[in-house]
Amino acid sequence: MKKQIVILGAGYGGLLSALSARANLSVEEADITVINRVPSHQIITELHRLAAGNVHEKAVALPLEKLLKGKGVQIKVGNVQAIDIENRKIVVEDGDYFRYDALVLALGSETNYFGIPGLQENSLTLKSVTDANRVFNHVKERVVAYSKSKNKADATFVIGGGGLTGVELVGELADELPGICRQYGVDFGDISLYLVEAMPTILPIFSPDLIERAVTSLEKRGVEFLTGLAITEVNGSTVSLKDGRTIETNTLVWTGGVQGHSLVANCGIEVNRGRASVNEYLQSVSHPEVFLAGDCAVVFGPEGRPYPPTAQLAWQMGELVGGNIAAWFREAKMDAFSPVFSGTLASLGRKDGIGTIGESGIKLKGTPASLMKKASNARYLSHIEGLFSLAY
Ligand code: NAD
Repeated sequence: MKKQIVILGAGYGGLLSALSARANLSVEEADITVINRVPSHQIITELHRLAAGNVHEKAVALPLEKLLKGKGVQIKVGNVQAIDIENRKIVVEDGDYFRYDALVLALGSETNYFGIPGLQENSLTLKSVTDANRVFNHVKERVVAYSKSKNKADATFVIGGGGLTGVELVGELADELPGICRQYGVDFGDISLYLVEAMPTILPIFSPDLIERAVTSLEKRGVEFLTGLAITEVNGSTVSLKDGRTIETNTLVWTGGVQGHSLVANCGIEVNRGRASVNEYLQSVSHPEVFLAGDCAVVFGPEGRPYPPTAQLAWQMGELVGGNIAAWFREAKMDAFSPVFSGTLASLGRKDGIGTIGESGIKLKGTPASLMKKASNARYLSHIEGLFSLAY
């Protein structure tokens, strides 16, 4: 009988699961349905550019309708309300429901506020195209407000969290704010742009010389680093730091961390700190009909440490999952997940970046890193295009 595959999420993991499943299963063998909150596949590794107005929305929100046209994959746009694991049924907010023989959970991660009082209510985030547009519009509005009110809180921008998301955003804002200020007759010298990081340094995944390179480059463009200082509370426009200091700001963007998706954490499959536990084939260890792709699963490396939740890992998981579902239906041998790490690149604005590439971790600084980051984005886009021609 024809199998039903339901995929939750159309990010890197979900989209690639759908395409690889279709490349391995004909339309006579299986129906594939992708359920996604929004009608687009979002290139979330480029959201920092959209948040600073440096790229058009069209470049980071690719319509699923167009991407999957004629590929034998159904799209359902809607918020998943419930995952009924026992009855193998997905319920969407509008009342629609879908039964499955195999389910792929690819819902990504959620912002972690770590229970910090007032933080969620008083901050913006950068997890989606909507968030990025919100940040851009908000920043512009604050500059306009400052041009009229001269209220310093309107000219003060705080990014909370110096991981890759926070640093890439602050780099882009450092490049774009001078232009926005000029547009509204504000002196860029009046602007304060802070990056607050709880740990002694930003971007601890990089070597000290690369970190130093990032800090120097960003400081030259007006970023002020407050490191070793956790945000402990936010009360309206007052951001409190660990040392008792406060910053008055009307813009706090929280990039302080992510956690597993709550729908996955609470659906009844086995989880480890809110992220699904998987076997080597990326099946849930408690429910073999449930496959996982992307940040909502935790995958352990050979040293027993979890891999970081990155786009490159999500897309590789998605690719494997589609083939493994087909093998599982046929009771054939599935492939074990064996990720390839191409490196980590951090953009520091329009023309600058740092990174490491390849297994040996070759270091890149400045234009080569920036170009490599753009090339890696182009590589992803051409890769999914290649898969489109394979699928169906
Ligand atoms: P993260 O967890 O990597 O970084 C969050 C940072 O916020 C940490 O440095 C943490 O110390 C800091 N922080 C936490 N609590 C704080 C507090 N109270 N006050 C101040 N600082 C605080 O989160 P992220 O940057 O959103 O990244 C999430 C994942 O996505 C990571 O695995 C990352 O590798 C990946 N990512 C990759 C790229 C890329 O490859 N270019 C870009 C963005 C994100």
